[in-house]
Amino acid sequence: MELYEAINSRRTVRDFENEPIVAEYLGTFQKLIERMTAKDIIEGTLTKWLSQADENDPVKCGFPKCKKHDAYICVHGCQVCTD
Ligand SMILES: [Zn+2]
Repeated sequence: MELYEAINSRRTVRDFENEPIVAEYLGTFQKLIERMTAKDIIEGTLTKWLSQADENDPVKCGFPKCKKHDAYICVHGCQVCTD
């Protein structure tokens, strides 16, 4: 699972000032993912969400990453660069 691996790899990063806070939130996010089952999937939600996204939204541009931080770029840019 790529997302799970991404969470674990981020937990080893020590060069963030707010690393304890980030680790706590990633831990919570990891627990939510581990508890998720097929019953939690609401049919049609992805299609609805994608239809509402702007054409320049990263979800419609192949989920680009920041070249400096290798972090996924959101609609506001790289979350690390703007920190
Ligand atoms: Zn960046």
